[in-house]
Amino acid sequence: MAAYTESIQNLMNLLADLPGIGMRSAERIAFHLLKQRPEEAMKLADAIRDVKTRIRHCSTCYNLTERDPCDICANSARDHAVVCIVEQPKDLLALESTGLYRGVYHVLLGRISPLEGVGPEDVTLDALMNRLAAGDIREVIMGTNPNLEGDGTALHIQSMIGGRFPNVQITRLARGLPAGSNIEFANRNILADAISGRQRM
Ligand SMILES: [Zn+2]
Repeated sequence: MAAYTESIQNLMNLLADLPGIGMRSAERIAFHLLKQRPEEAMKLADAIRDVKTRIRHCSTCYNLTERDPCDICANSARDHAVVCIVEQPKDLLALESTGLYRGVYHVLLGRISPLEGVGPEDVTLDALMNRLAAGDIREVIMGTNPNLEGDGTALHIQSMIGGRFPNVQITRLARGLPAGSNIEFANRNILADAISGRQRM
């Protein structure tokens, strides 16, 4: 069997490293790109370069953004005294899609998972504590996923906040969210109910 040229093989290997793409798909994509006009194919390379050079984490909430602070943190019409804690930027986007939430966010960039060796120091909890120490936050909404790690993360944060900032009210999204589910995949109506029906922890 004839081997692919080095550059085709390299492209296929890199594509096959992407989540959900096996060697067969990598091969199809590589040949699709080869058939495309150069300016078409280079759009993909440019898009990858753009996200890696322009996109960063907001220094306040850790959302993905091209401007720092992000549009949500910079928006004075939002209630900066209410902070919803989510695991990932995708969760923030899902909650934003409801159009119902007027507070701001804090993105953990992960969840505490002792089984996977992810401790409190591996998520953006220090930054959250610094935000709380500034003293302007009156409510924290736990928007972690309603599964084992998400609930454990919420409980850990609850005890950290309760110990240091007893005046901050802690709520969590209502349990219209199916247990064991992911916020990112919940439909908008369920998320809207979860925000408006949030409960004291
Ligand atoms: Zn932000």
